[in-house]
Amino acid sequence: NPVIRIEDLTVQYAQGTIAADNINLQIPGGQIVAIVGESGSGKSTLTKSLIGLLPQGTKSTGSVRFGGTEVTTLNVHEWRKIRGAGIGLVPQDPGASLDPVKTIGSQVIEVFRLHPSRSVPKAQWRSKAIELLESVGIDRAESRMSQYPHELSGGLKQRVLIAIAFALNPKLLIADEPTSALDVTVQRTVLEIFVSLARKNGTTVLFVTHDLAVATDIADRVLVMNSGRILEDRSVAELVSQS
Ligand code: ADP
Ligand code: ADP
Repeated sequence: NPVIRIEDLTVQYAQGTIAADNINLQIPGGQIVAIVGESGSGKSTLTKSLIGLLPQGTKSTGSVRFGGTEVTTLNVHEWRKIRGAGIGLVPQDPGASLDPVKTIGSQVIEVFRLHPSRSVPKAQWRSKAIELLESVGIDRAESRMSQYPHELSGGLKQRVLIAIAFALNPKLLIADEPTSALDVTVQRTVLEIFVSLARKNGTTVLFVTHDLAVATDIADRVLVMNSGRILEDRSVAELVSQS
């Protein structure tokens, strides 16, 4: 059974733009999928449809199922539960996404506190947080726990956000240009860490990138979007054998 099943999804923003135009897509468990396409082609709209973040007033028709659950009709409260239960999100801008007045450690631990049902016992919060920071390649993770975001480079901040996204071991991770604020070599390193963690955990990943080379190097499958449609849907093995 696919983790994501989208049928005839059309999304129209309040002012009229059709940003997803009859999209059909199935993604099996554990697959790493990259979405590429020009700015304005609908990449963000597609990822937002999958995490309930389309703005108020947006008209959306068709079906989006996550696991077996139809999610297009959920309200904000129900969406929180679904996300808490198994969807991790890596935000675009590491600077804007970490709280400047809280330490790194407290922000990782907060994820455990906010999701008591995921059963990480309180006595293990600190050691689990350090372990997570280590798993994304942060050196001296223990001493980083008491640092503030402004003391970290952009690349380190993005690693912290990836650690947070993995904290509850989600089934699905969505990343909308997770590394666009970083310089190119750091971008690639951070994405590689992200995907190797996902492979280790069997996580399904959908990530947006501008960079086709990064997509083919890291993903199993590449979707090319244009004008709200999926123009191409190729396995990377297929792309590589053609070139
Ligand atoms: P991409 O992520 O590929 O840059 P988007 O999904 O952000 O594409 O945008 C697709 C189209 O929808 C663009 O024409 C964009 O201007 C429009 N759009 C995106 N968000 C909104 C919004 N909140 N309200 C109105 N139009 C939007
Ligand atoms: P992203 O593509 O990651 O959402 P953008 O910079 O394209 O980032 O958009 C920033 C915000 O503005 C988003 O919330 C997006 O939905 C909204 N937006 C984008 N294009 C439009 C548009 N044409 N009209 C209104 N809102 C838009």
